[in-house]
Amino acid sequence: MSRKVITLAEIRDGSLRNVSFEAIAAAKTIAQGGEVVAVLLGESAQSYANELIYYGADRVVTVENEKLNHYTSDGYGQALMAVIDSEKPEGIVFGHTALGKDLAPKLATKLNSGLVSDVVAVEEAGGNLVFTRPIYSGKAFEKKIVTDGVIFVTVRPNNIPVLERDEARSGNVTNLSANIKDLRTIVKEVVRKTAEGVDLSEAKVIVAGGRGVKSADGFKPLQELAEVLGGAVGASRGACDAGYCDYSLQIGQTGKVVTPDLYIACGISGAIQHLAGMSNSKVIVAINKDSEANIFKVADYGIVGDLFEVVPLLTEEFKKL
Ligand code: FAD
Repeated sequence: MSRKVITLAEIRDGSLRNVSFEAIAAAKTIAQGGEVVAVLLGESAQSYANELIYYGADRVVTVENEKLNHYTSDGYGQALMAVIDSEKPEGIVFGHTALGKDLAPKLATKLNSGLVSDVVAVEEAGGNLVFTRPIYSGKAFEKKIVTDGVIFVTVRPNNIPVLERDEARSGNVTNLSANIKDLRTIVKEVVRKTAEGVDLSEAKVIVAGGRGVKSADGFKPLQELAEVLGGAVGASRGACDAGYCDYSLQIGQTGKVVTPDLYIACGISGAIQHLAGMSNSKVIVAINKDSEANIFKVADYGIVGDLFEVVPLLTEEFKKL
């Protein structure tokens, strides 16, 4: 059965977030040959439209309005409801980002639909669409099908392979002049704490430090390794609690959930709460002085040794590649 599916693209710091392309790829599977319409909000929406088409969107609908330059659930909710009224989609895909986690359940409730959140795979099997999502902090996966209503989905960043970018793809870009009523909250400015570097939740490589890093200065070798690998630096709560780094770097049950291609855990013991945020990484490398450390149970490669010796050696070797 073919469906019309819309996806909400996210712009951050002047670029489209990669999860926007992953949402399009998921929408393609859900659409089963139907149309995938990407939605872009904000005054400069038009300028990002072609990129979404190159990554597989059949059409782009923009709502260009200065009230949508910053995310508010009120403004984005109104704009998306206008798009939903006009497009009447059978499926809606968001990134499982702060925005998607906030907005998708609200809209699903408005449409009296369910929501399959944090999806890591979508496939067609036996005439059903099957959504896979991790449960119990990543210790198990459940497979779900949707039997009724609009299919609302959020996709976890870094899991759904994006379609190959193809500049030969073309599609219509239209603007919907939705009436956005006065907002209850107005965002005047967004000041970011960590303005530089790769976004942790979308990073393909993460070099994470724990209490074993011993100080804020101890993170420097990790930053150098992350830079050489084009990755981001993360941390355990142990390191954050000790004041070695900012809480925005925390990975785990009460921090960020990440699934990079490569996760290098340095001086992290592997507490269950930390594993909850990273154990689904594709390849895990652990560096720890203690050969009995729990982190080695989830690691694909383990290095028993002092991180202050091992990490600089890795950096030197990777520089040669
Ligand atoms: P430690 O457990 O102290 O481990 C440090 C490791 O470094 C040790 O294994 C040691 O052998 C090694 N080491 C020391 N020196 C070196 C060296 N020179 N070279 C190599 N290795 C060395 N934790 C999280 O990470 N994320 C969360 O989201 C989170 N949420 C939590 C929620 C709750 C409700 C609770 C109760 C706890 C939570 N925690 C979380 C905390 C968690 O239980 C652990 O306390 C924390 O993960 C430990 O951090 P750590 O591994 O850095 O420190």
